[in-house]
Amino acid sequence: MKKQFLVIGLGRFGSSITKTLIQNGHEVLAVDKNEQNVQDMASIATHALQADCTDEGVLRELGVSNFTHGIVAIGDDLQASILTTVLLKELNVPKVTAKARNEMHGKVLSKVGADHVVYPERDMGIRLGNQLSSDTLIDY
Ligand code: ATP
Repeated sequence: MKKQFLVIGLGRFGSSITKTLIQNGHEVLAVDKNEQNVQDMASIATHALQADCTDEGVLRELGVSNFTHGIVAIGDDLQASILTTVLLKELNVPKVTAKARNEMHGKVLSKVGADHVVYPERDMGIRLGNQLSSDTLIDY
């Protein structure tokens, strides 16, 4: 079934998620405050928009409550990551997945309502470590 995703933050992680969701037949509104990142996604995402997602008014205008799933892929700016997560939940996005840089960041994201917290660098390190430890290298 086709789903509507909102991806906020189009760095390496957010743009990779956007491409994968599109390849799997879903609709994606891709948003970033950086114009170049938005342009890079313009021909890939269903829609790509430049906006600061820590602004509640902007999120309301985007109609975020119409999306089934929001992904907060902001990394370095902890305040923006946390604030955007809070706002998406306040605006009734049913499922919010947020990317955390470390355990403490992840803890805060969960406390403010993120339904799912991911740790891409940590998890990729574990995965690669396990793969490299294995005699039979699969999925590498
Ligand atoms: P990655 O590892 O995915 O490349 P990162 O963890 O280094 O990214 P950042 O580069 O800090 O994370 O953030 C990812 C993206 O989020 C950037 O393209 C940045 O412009 C965008 N971003 C940061 N703050 C906001 C905001 N308030 N509204 C919208 N986009 C934002």
